[in-house]
Amino acid sequence: MVDVGGVPFGGRGITVIAGPCSVEGKEVILEAAGIAKRAGAHVLRGGGFKPRTSPYAFQGLGKEGLRLLKAAGDSVGMPVISEIMDAAQLPAFLDHDIDCLQVGARNMQNFTLLKAIARAGKPVMLKRGLSATIEEWLQAAEYLAAFGSEGIILCERGIRTFETATRNTLDLTVLPLMRQWTHLPIIVDPSHAAGIPALIPPLSRASIAAGADGVAVECHPRPKEARSDGAQALLPGELSGLIADARIMAAAVGRSFVAPVRV
Ligand code: PEP
Ligand code: MN
Repeated sequence: MVDVGGVPFGGRGITVIAGPCSVEGKEVILEAAGIAKRAGAHVLRGGGFKPRTSPYAFQGLGKEGLRLLKAAGDSVGMPVISEIMDAAQLPAFLDHDIDCLQVGARNMQNFTLLKAIARAGKPVMLKRGLSATIEEWLQAAEYLAAFGSEGIILCERGIRTFETATRNTLDLTVLPLMRQWTHLPIIVDPSHAAGIPALIPPLSRASIAAGADGVAVECHPRPKEARSDGAQALLPGELSGLIADARIMAAAVGRSFVAPVRV
């Protein structure tokens, strides 16, 4: 089991990470934190350093984004997770006590980064690379373990295939397979896999049914105003519905929904 600021990943529980793609400002991240908390999510997400395909797209608020994220998490009593793109950013993550370091798909095999953060004493969520095989993904997790990381969470977020109807292709095969190959907790990010809000609730249910230890989803109070990934952001009501279903699915497969921390 991996402990993220008091929230367990793995074991019998089902855990939910929710929040906007990026931290856009103080008010909006506070609003998003309230939405995630009321819906029943456990961990608040939000990127400060954003890996954008276009160099002209919003790159995130950087260190200030991490500060705002942590303050928003504290305001509702939720631990926080954010993506680290470069070892040079590590002091900012430690200064702001970010509870879990996210390694994004684009950096899964950035071995210098993996080695540097493995020694930091923080849990790491390792997303599957855009075109990474399961074996390569596990080897990347092995880098973290070999260099001192104790809390590693895997996150399936869809892979590149010939299909263009969805942003990526969600590979649910990894769930039963990883149960055979590793003891590490594994969660699913159906937001980046599908890229379409309507697909995210059914894919979340399917993920839990297939053995995921939780899901990570993007939400926004006003998706149309989002500065990144607005097209896939869930509305507050959609997030609440997804989490209500996650509770039902958890019970159906003999798991329990982790009790959210009370504030
Ligand atoms: C994200 O979580 O916002 C993100 C960029 O995800 P991925 O690395 O899976 O593309
Ligand atoms: Mn995103």
